[in-house]
Amino acid sequence: MKQEISGIVREVSNCRICGCTDLIKYLDLGLLPLANNLAATANDAKAMRRYPMQVQYCRDCSLSQLTVVIDPREMYSNYAYRSSISQAYIDHCREMAKSLRDSLGLKEGDLVVDIAGNDGALLAVFKDELGVRVVNVDPAENLAEIAEAAGVTTITSFWGAEAARRIVVEHGKPDLITATNVFAHVDDVRSFVSAAKDCLSDDGALMLEFPYGIDFIEHREFDTIYFEHLSYVLLEPVRRLAESLGMAIFDVQKQDIHGGTIRVFIGKENSHDVLPSVAEFIANEKQEGYHDADVYRDWNREIDDLIADLVSQITALKKGGAKIAAFAASAKGNTLLNACRFDTDTVDYIVDDTPEKIGRFSPGTGIPIVDRAVLAEDPPDYLLILAWNFAKEIIAETANFSAGGGKYIIPIPAFKIIAPEGEA
Ligand SMILES: [Zn+2]
Repeated sequence: MKQEISGIVREVSNCRICGCTDLIKYLDLGLLPLANNLAATANDAKAMRRYPMQVQYCRDCSLSQLTVVIDPREMYSNYAYRSSISQAYIDHCREMAKSLRDSLGLKEGDLVVDIAGNDGALLAVFKDELGVRVVNVDPAENLAEIAEAAGVTTITSFWGAEAARRIVVEHGKPDLITATNVFAHVDDVRSFVSAAKDCLSDDGALMLEFPYGIDFIEHREFDTIYFEHLSYVLLEPVRRLAESLGMAIFDVQKQDIHGGTIRVFIGKENSHDVLPSVAEFIANEKQEGYHDADVYRDWNREIDDLIADLVSQITALKKGGAKIAAFAASAKGNTLLNACRFDTDTVDYIVDDTPEKIGRFSPGTGIPIVDRAVLAEDPPDYLLILAWNFAKEIIAETANFSAGGGKYIIPIPAFKIIAPEGEA
């Protein structure tokens, strides 16, 4: 395999869903480092290898995808993510279990498989709430141990034909396969969905949950672009993919978590009544222009303007003598900081609650990641909320900071200052 820059597995010259080569590049954030690989020193962080961060649109099926695929071994080598076991996440899992039981008629003893189920938190709730049998498929060995300890049977593997065969032999045919926040990270989506079809029971369902392409564009979520996130997905390309594999989407549901995600239910052809939601979503995408390249060209200009505005507003505050810090060191925060070319000349530090991240440095920028206590010990004038989708919670949790006169900067969908103590 030819590799011009080490780490790039391939350049994407055809659509991973329909195979078409009529692709239009519509966004270029420049050369960016991998978002999740935190560095041990500021110099290491600044010296990290960078890759072209560009998004292209397929004129045939309307899929948006990155122009390169990075070697997963590079991306996940330092990857220590574990599903949050916060009460909010458990509540979310419980809501999902009940919702899926009601819409799919799941009953005790049915088999549910979760693809890339991490530490098994979701399946543990399913087992508890619904009395179903559960199997987690996840490649991370340390997470598999945690899942097994929680009573969730785990196959340590990537999802594919081999894992699907093993499930049928060892456990039978699944009635439901879930994949939450996985689909957009998969390069070979055809094999991914096809493996699900091969093992599902005749009236079984595959449920994909992923960030919705319309929210991505509408709310200017350019910071959700990072190298792990290969595709930015509408319903239309998924419909094409399902149909080309002898399957059909039979329901779509909108969720409001993470800045807008959808749940897409796929079954074997003619196995389910197709609900009106499917045609409604497709018609809305078409009517709003999302099946046309113009929307994406306009968006490109909007994002270039947004980034220029963030840079000029935040730089002006800094030049006026303000001290600026950021919250939190997530993948999307790193995309925003790097797209704005910020470093410690602008942002003094990033506050984060994850113990494994504290003491390390943000990739590309070299900004140190510190414990929440620093916010009280060495308070900034402005806290740039990189996790803008949790802005309300973060502002509520940092009341002491704002009581001392601290202000917040919300970067997306537009630069905005919030001063809870009244002064503008
Ligand atoms: Zn396509």
